[in-house]
Amino acid sequence: SGLKKYFPIKAGLLGRTVGQVKAVDDISFTINKGETFGLVGESGSGKSTVGRTILRLNDKTDGEVRFDGIDLFDLPQDELRRLRPKMQLIFQDPYSSLNPRVRIGDAIGEALLDHGLASPAEVRDRVLDVLAACGLSSYHYDRFPHEFSGGQRQRIGIARALVLNPDLIIADEPVSALDVSIQAQIINLFRGMQQKQGLTYLFISHDLSVVEHLCSHIGVMYLGSMMETASRDELFRNPLHPYTKALLSAVPVPIPKLKRERIVLSGELPNPANPPSGCKFHTRCPFAVPRCREEVPQFREVGSGHKVACHLV
Ligand code: SF4
Ligand code: MG
Repeated sequence: SGLKKYFPIKAGLLGRTVGQVKAVDDISFTINKGETFGLVGESGSGKSTVGRTILRLNDKTDGEVRFDGIDLFDLPQDELRRLRPKMQLIFQDPYSSLNPRVRIGDAIGEALLDHGLASPAEVRDRVLDVLAACGLSSYHYDRFPHEFSGGQRQRIGIARALVLNPDLIIADEPVSALDVSIQAQIINLFRGMQQKQGLTYLFISHDLSVVEHLCSHIGVMYLGSMMETASRDELFRNPLHPYTKALLSAVPVPIPKLKRERIVLSGELPNPANPPSGCKFHTRCPFAVPRCREEVPQFREVGSGHKVACHLV
């Protein structure tokens, strides 16, 4: 709620602060239990910073993050530590966070022991269970990270998160590095896990077509601001923000009857350290009017659960 995360820009030998990047600039959204919220936008839009700030992996500048009613930034460190297993992060490439010298089974079991969630005698069985749930087997338990393919490594990343029995998983571009055929398998794995365990996901992706298959609700970010949020069906049927329409223009439509207005984005994402005035999208928006340069559009509800920030809507 009203979440802000600004990073200082430092310059010179003394590291003097010369400005700030408003990576997350007053963002609000809700994810209901058991739902999947897809956070979409170009790289540099602040999606990953939202994910990391929710997990309190970095400090906030302002706003609140409530998990099951508790403001996470109000929690003392020891209580936060107790909650940690309930909120897990999955990255694009889990390989970078795996120790090359530690066998996969031990790497997955480590977290269980760290958090005191299993005794040393129980760990192996718990890890074998979660490996099986992720489409791997006892054969993989004693292998090292380099022995796995990209898709298998993502299964390991998922297994490592799942073994802690979380309620919320924040998955940051978890399939972006994978071939399309493997992407589908991993997305199906995410979906299966959700059905079995009632998991809640925040699924971060630059790719709307990936989000479409998994998410019940979608938020579209641009330069640190939320431009539009709606249920998946509503967003695909009735996109209102010009930026959302542009992103949808790039997604292939299976049924020609559903042909959408085509909006092709011109220009690059502006420098986040120096975003455009007024509506941050005005430098690339084909519908911009003079007002858009001066006045920040309010993010407001325009239909049941459908919110948008645009002067023309
Ligand atoms: Fe385009 Fe103006 Fe709407 Fe921004 S407020 S999206 S510039 S029409
Ligand atoms: Mg990112």
